[in-house]
Amino acid sequence: MYDVVIIGSGCAGLTAAIYAARANLKPLVIDGHEPGGQLSLTTMVENFPGFPDGILGPELIENMRKQAKRFGAEFKAGVVNEADLTKRPFKITAGKDVYETKTLIVAAGASARMLGLENERKLLGYGVSTCATCDGFFFRGKPIAVVGGGDSAMEEANFLTRYASKVYLIHRRSEFRASKIMIDRVRANEKVEIVTPAIVEDILGHGTGAVEGVRLRHPETNAIRDIKLDGVFVAIGHTPNTTAFRGKIETDANGYLIASNGSKTTIPGVFVAGDVQDHRYRQAVTAAGSGCMAALDAEKFLEEHSAESASFESARQSSAAVPAPAN
Ligand code: NAP
Repeated sequence: MYDVVIIGSGCAGLTAAIYAARANLKPLVIDGHEPGGQLSLTTMVENFPGFPDGILGPELIENMRKQAKRFGAEFKAGVVNEADLTKRPFKITAGKDVYETKTLIVAAGASARMLGLENERKLLGYGVSTCATCDGFFFRGKPIAVVGGGDSAMEEANFLTRYASKVYLIHRRSEFRASKIMIDRVRANEKVEIVTPAIVEDILGHGTGAVEGVRLRHPETNAIRDIKLDGVFVAIGHTPNTTAFRGKIETDANGYLIASNGSKTTIPGVFVAGDVQDHRYRQAVTAAGSGCMAALDAEKFLEEHSAESASFESARQSSAAVPAPAN
């Protein structure tokens, strides 16, 4: 039985692992379907404190993993498909493996929705991005596109005009889902050109390892138009990775887990961290901060419930001591 099981190995999960491991809690980290989380899909990270020259996302994640291992964190590959949180110890199932734990930290992240184009995956981190705050700076003086019609797309389009020479806002319908005030701001921004209705058929890169443009199709006429540009920001929403916890841990209307009073959920002993509970900031450093909070909360919980922990141990030992029934 574990003291702490951490679901997710992005910035939040790994920071929780570092803190829990340093507190001698020997946490188990279950990697999830995107080991390393969103940082592992990006290139240069320039806004994580402590790296004046920036650091590659995958390198930052690898460093955190090594740091957690150094203090005794254990890692298992796997995707959690079932969680019994009705009583402690909790039972966590990942494929054929079942783990028992006194506390649980859910740091399963949120996945950016993607258009599903082959070049989008290939060029992610090389001109294709899902985070304007992270990557806008790399497009100073260059034309770029934002894809989407919700509040995120409007916010990113406006924000990116600080850097880009021009921002094409591309949306598949002529009507926007975004709130009126956000649309009005975009319409008033001279550096934004709205391109609707337009479906992104392809992101053009011609094998150069950099974005060179987008190919658009008009949904009614099927007319094709290419626009030359240097970057594409996909802003079509995020999906929190909460399938295994649906109906068990309280969520908001968009499916994000709700944390209150630090990292606590309504289930004592279950804590949440990172993008799975944060649709607002979504930054590596805020995810790391919330991972730290979750580990400290779990540690405190274990201290306060040490008598219960001892009873789990003695129950486990006595069941191990019962001889197997004779056939
Ligand atoms: P969203 O509201 O779900 O909008 C997603 C947009 O992407 C929609 O316009 C949708 O088009 C489009 N889209 C989805 N799948 C697509 C695909 N496969 N190809 C092309 N386009 C696709 O997501 P969001 O903008 O991230 O917002 C999420 C929540 O956060 C919302 O409640 C929003 O209000 C909130 N938010 C608020 C603020 C703020 O107030 N400052 C900022 C950001 C987000 P259709 O419209 O055609 O479906």
